[in-house]
Amino acid sequence: MPPDKLGFADNTIDRAANRRSDPQWIEGLKRDNGSRLISFSGDRVRTAGGHAAHSSPADAQDPVFLGLDTSGHAWFASEESFEGGHNLRSIAVGGLVPPEEMGFLAQARSLLAWHGSRTFCSNCGARLVMRDGGYRRHCEGCSCDHFPRTDPVVIMVAIHDRRCLLGRQASWPPGMYSALAGFMEPGETIEDAARREILEESGIRVGAVHYIASQPWPFPSSLMIGLIGEAETDAITLDRLELEDARWFAVDELRAMRDGSHPGNLRCPPPMAIANLLISVAIDRCG
Ligand SMILES: [Zn+2]
Repeated sequence: MPPDKLGFADNTIDRAANRRSDPQWIEGLKRDNGSRLISFSGDRVRTAGGHAAHSSPADAQDPVFLGLDTSGHAWFASEESFEGGHNLRSIAVGGLVPPEEMGFLAQARSLLAWHGSRTFCSNCGARLVMRDGGYRRHCEGCSCDHFPRTDPVVIMVAIHDRRCLLGRQASWPPGMYSALAGFMEPGETIEDAARREILEESGIRVGAVHYIASQPWPFPSSLMIGLIGEAETDAITLDRLELEDARWFAVDELRAMRDGSHPGNLRCPPPMAIANLLISVAIDRCG
């Protein structure tokens, strides 16, 4: 059954960040009979009986350590090549595994994607080696350390006079409208980044910005920062390189889009995506 809550946001695993730098502790966990390994092929994993399929990590080469679950089992993940399985987006939209497993699948996917793209040191070109259970890559050539990255993305619904601003990209399914979003740039506050993105894409000036929630988005390593903005202008000037359309939607129309009852078949992203939550909050705030 499709989930009615945010995907990837319910990670209950204990990352044991203060112990994972001990290689003997990690090695002991790898060989423990209760420990589990999830294999990824790109962003696909296999499922079995409503859970992420797992095997023993004992023979895996450099698996990343995810943490300890609430029963004390250690979870690892590694990359291999196989056919079949489901990609993370399908798993999240379809609710194919419990929410807490979605959380550590996102964690695993972002970490593995980072390792896959950081074979060599960007400082001296030497080959990097994995440390700290996968949360650091160390260069034995120049001794520098490399750490996993998380890329912040601001995503915002702007409100003006009981209407909400949504847009769509040409590549999206027909009728789909969502909150406007974009990557943060160096030296920006969250508020500045959100105001800039909205202004660039729609020509709308936003004043006050309110934080609502955040969501890990493992495609491959984003963090969605969900916001509501108070628009100070309402004349839209579209950036056609970014968006196919942007419009102000009245609350009643927006509610129909969210609930799947819009007469013109316009719709919003599903509840697993933070845009859906932001739209619901915006509807409530418009009253
Ligand atoms: Zn180096």
